[in-house]
Amino acid sequence: MEEHNCKHMLGTLSEYVDGELASELCADLEHHLQTCPNCTVVVNTLRKTIELYHDTAESDPLPTDVRRRLFARLDLGDYVK
Ligand SMILES: [Zn+2]
Repeated sequence: MEEHNCKHMLGTLSEYVDGELASELCADLEHHLQTCPNCTVVVNTLRKTIELYHDTAESDPLPTDVRRRLFARLDLGDYVK
């Protein structure tokens, strides 16, 4: 396992699901996701939540407070910038 990478990877998830992460970091994250079920679950949950939000809020970006609540629920509060 690459658990030592999780903290760093999780810190990039928010940008990743927004499509704002640099391509190099995307590749690193996607490689990590292939080996880390824990982070995969987090990404899938984050994406689903954002999709649900977009269904009701059109194209507005996910507000910071929504993001913070989501990450808090995922027990990732420490990773929110
Ligand atoms: Zn991981």
